Amino acid sequence: MSQKASGSAPAHKHCPVCGISIAPTKDYCSNECREIDENGQKRMKNYRRLTLLLMVAALVVLLVLSLFLRRS
Ligand SMILES: [Zn+2]
Repeated sequence: MSQKASGSAPAHKHCPVCGISIAPTKDYCSNECREIDENGQKRMKNYRRLTLLLMVAALVVLLVLSLFLRRS
């Protein structure tokens, strides 16, 4: 809360996607913005899963590699 206009401004929120003022009972200004945000969250989840998978794969490769090096 950085801007407080003389205390008479009605309570409102901002759409997290496009940033325009919306009613405090709403989460997004429109169904389009809701879809955009939900798609972004889904993509973020996929991205995190991919990163985790890559890290595990790298760990396994390192483990196998170290085993090979120790044996020879
Ligand atoms: Zn919006």
